[in-house]
Amino acid sequence: AGAASLALTLTACGQNGSGGSKEKTGDVKGATIGIAMPTKSSERWINDGNNVVKDLQAKGYKTKLVYGEDDPSTQVSQIENLITQGVKGLIVAAIDNKSLNNVLQEAHQAGIPVIAYDRLILGTKNVDYYASFDNEKVGTLQGTYIVHKLGLDSGKKGPFNIELFAGSNDDNNTQYFFDGAMKVLQPYLDKKQLVVKSGQTKLNQVTTLRWDGTTAQHRMEDILTSAYKSGRVDAVLSPYDGISIGILSALKSDGYGSGSNPLPVITGQDAELASVKSIIAGQQTQTVYKDTRQLAKVASAMVDDALHGKQPQVNDTKTYTNGAKVVPAYLLQPVSVDKTNYQQVLVDGGYYTESELK
Ligand code: BGC
Repeated sequence: AGAASLALTLTACGQNGSGGSKEKTGDVKGATIGIAMPTKSSERWINDGNNVVKDLQAKGYKTKLVYGEDDPSTQVSQIENLITQGVKGLIVAAIDNKSLNNVLQEAHQAGIPVIAYDRLILGTKNVDYYASFDNEKVGTLQGTYIVHKLGLDSGKKGPFNIELFAGSNDDNNTQYFFDGAMKVLQPYLDKKQLVVKSGQTKLNQVTTLRWDGTTAQHRMEDILTSAYKSGRVDAVLSPYDGISIGILSALKSDGYGSGSNPLPVITGQDAELASVKSIIAGQQTQTVYKDTRQLAKVASAMVDDALHGKQPQVNDTKTYTNGAKVVPAYLLQPVSVDKTNYQQVLVDGGYYTESELK
């Protein structure tokens, strides 16, 4: 919402989109765009892939959509294949943000513009634009939700016990999500109104490789065994719905969620179907919704503009430094969703139908 009004168009000078800066208007009609997504194991990426395909086809492009099954080297060879097959543009949601340098060099040599999709690609100049959400805001929404739900912002003093989970350490978003949440939570940790009984508070102690729910479940089980012989967990910062579901299984096996032992406040991200149902059923507490339909539109427009020698619309030209350059970005706004507003945001917004949520 309001994204369009925030948008500004870069002036033609000073941008160094690789393939994008070339005048290509003549030869792009009916061209094929390669789309490399990370995994089919999470619903959001399936929707992202389908939406990008739909939007590009509506603009007259052909598409090749591949999924790297969360294996960085698979993704590298998939992108190599796309280049060999002659794609004219690439949209890439990286699995490992640092493993794509060589293959993107090949893309650059072939004059192919590259759009980093949702996750920034690091350490290379050969990424032209970035389409994503305000990633720090995602974390801010999660942290703020926890503070509010525990009543810390309305006079309650705690102390409340909280455990922290973060995403995959090879995903550039992970740091942004965690920092956004910790900026809100840290003052309460400092005042001991929030306590992390496991003692695991540093990002490198709380990451979850490839965002895997089972990995998170095991970590939660270990924490419950070692740090909660007495006391209970009041809140869990979880960065992603699949991780939240894993954490919830560990908690339920430990007796949470029955009678006098309620489940803690637990956040999430992506508004995946299973998690929205869990929220409706009173288990997961919150999720952060990111409208992937909008993201697909932004990325498709970026590649289309780049191929026509036009500067794509961006609304952020300073946040996302990738180690080699500042990547001009268009950032959409995430929205906090819980039991009180899922109907309005997700159903009225056309993301899910009422019957899908039954
Ligand atoms: C995305 C999140 C998603 C996570 C796991 C992140 O890069 O921004 O929306 O939950 O990956 O797939």
